[in-house]
Amino acid sequence: MKQEKDAAVPAGAQEKDEAIPAGEREKDAAVPAGAQEKDAAVPAGAREKDAEIPAGAREQSEDLCVHEKFMREALRQAKKAYALEETPIGCVIVQDGRIIARGYNRRNTDKNTLAHAELTAIRKAAKKLGDWRLEGCTMYVTLEPCQMCAGAMVQARLTEAVIGSMNPKAGCAGSVLNILEMPQFNHQVRVIRGVLKEECGGLLSRFFRELREKKAGKIRMGQGEI
Ligand SMILES: [Zn+2]
Repeated sequence: MKQEKDAAVPAGAQEKDEAIPAGEREKDAAVPAGAQEKDAAVPAGAREKDAEIPAGAREQSEDLCVHEKFMREALRQAKKAYALEETPIGCVIVQDGRIIARGYNRRNTDKNTLAHAELTAIRKAAKKLGDWRLEGCTMYVTLEPCQMCAGAMVQARLTEAVIGSMNPKAGCAGSVLNILEMPQFNHQVRVIRGVLKEECGGLLSRFFRELREKKAGKIRMGQGEI
């Protein structure tokens, strides 16, 4: 039901939601539903703020809190990859508000092109559900998926993908291609971009910076020996 409602929200409204500062969003979510009705229980400042936010945007703010919560779980997975000195990419698959599968990048560790976070999570989710169709499921992934994973997400009939940071050089959810939302295919995955993008992107930047420093260190050491 909620997902259908979301689909009906025009793109403009989504942009509006992003324009709401994080602090304000948190405040909004912290007010219990009952208290919102009881004006007396809400401080005057908050009431004014509420009045400025249309009802649709408020629902979206709540959605954003949920998205951030699950994206943090995807980030936890990405940190597992980081600990293995793998490019830190992680994801979780959520159904009915529960995580049913997790995955993180293990490409070098497993010496396997297919060991991307998304494919691992899709495999685990299918096993858990006893069905290859992941209808009604949302994937939270820290980096925009590649062509292989985006293809698998369409094949799995995933309902929704929430993406952290975009990957302009290789992403296939709107950067190089938009495999997830091609109208020519029989299934489209709804895409939400930019959830916790600073954290997701920051982890990747740190990883690559450290990698460069390590390489530079090795080169310096090599020169020293000569
Ligand atoms: Zn991939």
